[in-house]
Amino acid sequence: MTTMLLTNGIIVTVDDAMTVHWPGYVAAKNGVITEIGEGDPPAHSGDVIDLDGDILMPGMVNTHCHLAMALFRGLGDDEPDRLKRYIFPLEKRFVSPEMVYVGSLLAGLELAEGGVTTVADMYYFEAQAGRALETLGLRGVVGQTIVDFAAPDAPTTDDGFAQFERLAADFRDHPTITASIAPHAPYTTGLDILRRVDAASRSADLPVQIHVSEMDYEADWVRDHCGGSPVDLLDQSGLLRPGVIAAHCLWVDDRDITNLARGGVAVAHNAGANVKGGRGIAPVLDMVAAGVTVGLGSDGPMSGNTIDLFAQMSQVAKLQKLRARDRTVMPAIDVVRLATIGGAKALGLDDRIGSLEPGKRADIVRISRSAARLHPLHDPYAALVYAALPSDVSDVMVDGRFIVREGRITAIDRASLLAEADAYADRMRRAL
Ligand SMILES: [Zn+2]
Repeated sequence: MTTMLLTNGIIVTVDDAMTVHWPGYVAAKNGVITEIGEGDPPAHSGDVIDLDGDILMPGMVNTHCHLAMALFRGLGDDEPDRLKRYIFPLEKRFVSPEMVYVGSLLAGLELAEGGVTTVADMYYFEAQAGRALETLGLRGVVGQTIVDFAAPDAPTTDDGFAQFERLAADFRDHPTITASIAPHAPYTTGLDILRRVDAASRSADLPVQIHVSEMDYEADWVRDHCGGSPVDLLDQSGLLRPGVIAAHCLWVDDRDITNLARGGVAVAHNAGANVKGGRGIAPVLDMVAAGVTVGLGSDGPMSGNTIDLFAQMSQVAKLQKLRARDRTVMPAIDVVRLATIGGAKALGLDDRIGSLEPGKRADIVRISRSAARLHPLHDPYAALVYAALPSDVSDVMVDGRFIVREGRITAIDRASLLAEADAYADRMRRAL
């Protein structure tokens, strides 16, 4: 039996009342939070850690990523029509099980050391992504990509579905990794494939991840091929329902937003990647007001370049303020909620993670206050959203186990991984 007490910190719980215990403590036993409170803790027999005024927050949840693309980071950043002219050909040539494992380890390292404890990923050879997250001690939802053309891990769409069945079997009853099916987008699948995705995910009782309303040509494609909007297409295919995570949703109108809320579809909001692509700013305020579950994502490291959520949180707040021309909207407290419990709800994991409360898994991040930018500290939410950087993360726990200590990953030798990833990327660049 392992017991642990973290005391003398600023405890940002993200419970329903958004309670902050300042100073406060958190106790955990066997990976589960047992007690949390204000002031001095009760007598304790296990390990005691003095937080010395640092901030504790729930592990953050990145609801949309393509981990392995970390090895492509920085390639063709400013190219036009990059998805079809650049990314798809690059993937066809270089994506392999080894590439996905190494790239996912690299991305996972960045996530863990940046305070993200759970990530939803969609890519190819996803069993390798699951293994990489497992190696690092991260929690994850790994999604087998389905497209209507030959993919790196599936010559045909049928092969993609078969890969999903294998992935589901590989991670059945896994404590921290959940398999998922990930139709790439409406314009790379279409109604018939999406109906098959719906049936496969219902029969496996596993989540669906899909890009929705991201591209400028997408609405026209859906109208011409299926009728209606991309959200209508979800409805026609059976995917307007809980267990579906729609990334982006940039050009959804009021009717679409009402339908997303009514159906229980969750939205992964990728602020940084959306503006870097020159695409737009998602109507997140309207979605939240309508009752849509929203979590934050980074998109892949080729789209947003960094995948921690500190880089996202500040942009989420500022872009919504800019969009509304109103500094009062999307306050920091709401952004922290989206980055933690919002993401947990989006992935259907909020019974286990997303807040610091007794009974939840001990997925906890300690933010060191050694940096000048975190002094003074009038408002912990403002500090986390507008000032903190991933380098301020000192310790990270998943299930009460330290996966990061004093800013460094514990499971692997980080210097060798960085060297291996660089060497892998060099070989790819030389072959280009
Ligand atoms: Zn994406």
